[in-house]
Amino acid sequence: MKHNIQAVFIDRDGTMGGTGHFIHPRDFKLYPYTMEAINILKERNIKVIALTNQHRIARGEATVEDFQEEFSNLGIDGAYICPHSSKEGCQCHKPAPGMLIQAAEDHDLDLSKCVVIGDVGSSDMLAAHRVGALKVLVKTGWGKDSLGDFRHSWEEVEPDFIAEDLLDAVRWITNNELIFHEG
Ligand SMILES: [Mg+2]
Ligand SMILES: [Zn+2]
Repeated sequence: MKHNIQAVFIDRDGTMGGTGHFIHPRDFKLYPYTMEAINILKERNIKVIALTNQHRIARGEATVEDFQEEFSNLGIDGAYICPHSSKEGCQCHKPAPGMLIQAAEDHDLDLSKCVVIGDVGSSDMLAAHRVGALKVLVKTGWGKDSLGDFRHSWEEVEPDFIAEDLLDAVRWITNNELIFHEG
């Protein structure tokens, strides 16, 4: 890593808050450190973009607007929401890289200078891998299971860092940024 980080993509469920499972925006609770983590990135002029699969939208249990409103309340730079069920074969459902590619276009990003933080190896880490982004797995949400019982589902990929949680992940990014500046 010999460059500054342009953007950090953050998964919602199990990474920003909640349990890893679907929780409607009206009931969703961020982890206590999530705003601090987001603000550390913003202070460094690193874009923060949410990246989430929400197949319950396809079932009518929430709307894209519900999620857009939730993310806009975080003061982040963008949010990409896949509303499809995994059976629809869309290009946006992680591990498909469609949302990352669209975000790179919209925000003029080099994805090799971006980081994806998420709790699910077989969706978040594989999507990041497909576009050459840096990969940080958090142990919250499904993270421990991703490293345990489900490791086979993404065995071809090694995360660049395994973080305790989102704040630990952000500290790893900012610590490495100091090294990039010196290098
Ligand atoms: Mg998740
Ligand atoms: Zn989709």
